[in-house]
Parts: sequence; C-alpha cells; structure tokens
Amino acid sequence: MLLETERQAVVRYGQAMLRANLTTGTGGNLSCVQRERGWVAISPSGVPYDELKPRDVVVVDLEGRKVEGDLKPSSEIGFHLALYRHRRDIGAVVHTHSVYATTLACLHWEIPAVHYLVGFAGPKVPVAPYATYGTEDLARNVWQTMGTDYQAVLLANHGLVAVGANLPKALDTAEEIEFVARVFCQTKSIGDPVCLDDAEMERVMEKFKSYGRQDGAPEG
Ligand code: 13P
Ligand code: ZN
Repeated sequence: MLLETERQAVVRYGQAMLRANLTTGTGGNLSCVQRERGWVAISPSGVPYDELKPRDVVVVDLEGRKVEGDLKPSSEIGFHLALYRHRRDIGAVVHTHSVYATTLACLHWEIPAVHYLVGFAGPKVPVAPYATYGTEDLARNVWQTMGTDYQAVLLANHGLVAVGANLPKALDTAEEIEFVARVFCQTKSIGDPVCLDDAEMERVMEKFKSYGRQDGAPEG
C-alpha cells in the first residue's frame, strides 16, 4: 500500500479529531503531504471516522489525480491541495466544524487576541469569505485568506481550517483555536473582552517557536 504511514496517520488523527469534539458525524476532513513524491493522503468523502481504515484513505497528486484508493477523496480536496501548493512550509491540513469556531464563523467575526493562545494561528484568526462547500471558489477564499503567515482561518458559515508541519501540530492548532473561540464567545456574553495588542502577540509567537523544547536555553 502506497503512503502507508501517512494513511495510518489520517485514520489516527481523524479519530482524535472526533474524540476531541472538534467535529460530528462525517463532518470535517484531514490530509498530509509527502513532499518528495508530491503525493497527498486525504480522508475519503462521507466516511465516519470510527469506521475509517488506512486503505480507505485516498492518495492523490498535487493536481488532484488519483494515485491509489477505491473511494472518492474528500469534497474539500480543492483547498487541501491549494494550501499545499501555496504553502511549502506545511505538511498537514485539518478542517473541523467545531462549535465555538463555527459560531464565530457564522457571525463573520474574526477571533481577536482575547487569549494569548490565539498565537497558534497568528495575531488573530481571520475569516475566509463564504462559498459553497467543495468548490474551487471556497478553495481560493481559503488559501488567499490564509496567506503566508496564518496557521488557521475561519470559513464563513461553515467551520475552521488549520495547517501545520504535520497532523498532530495542525490538530493541536484546531483544538487551541476552538478553546480561544469558546473563551471569546463566553467573554462577549458577559462583558467586553480585553484584547492583547500586536506587540504582545509578536512576543508570544516568538516564544512559541521554542515552547516545549527541552534542549537548549530557557525561553526568552
Ligand atoms: P467530506 O466528507 O467530503 O470530507 O466533507 C465534509 C465537509 O466538512 C465538507 O466541508
Ligand atoms: Zn466542512
């Protein structure tokens, strides 16, 4: 089986996404890329995560031609591939319908720096304009809003997309942004949240580069 390790990772992190309550049913999708060959392992369309087997995961090239797999790839293959083509720094894409991020996406509200953990995505989380799911219009809106620096964007009236060096990192970002989205919704419901300024978010994002690394000097 081609890309066996990557296909196993799609199954493992798809189930982790479901367990973390970041999606329900067959909502959302995920993929990772093998850059040397230019192949992507992507979840199949409409298959429940707890029934997913590695051989159900579809392998496609960066133009979307099927390399191996019996099932149809995710309907959001367009934005997964567009992100890999425009962002050479990323190795994985995770798309969720997590409740609080989606709540803000339905208001077309960006997530501001209400909590320093927004730095997993950038100084804020922007909103990609609405387009019908599974379309090239949505793919374009996603990669244009993600740009070169953000690690996550909200999809208007839909959900969230997070990227990262690999699947665990992209999933971590989706989970942390859901936490910040929830805190933002809750603060807005009882008062006026106090947000961090750009200089502080720059400092936080710099510190994140070495966070959790046990080698070398302590974080500055
Ligand atoms: P797929 O099952 O085709 O991946 O679609 C789920 C989804 O979230 C569409 O946006
Ligand atoms: Zn979706």
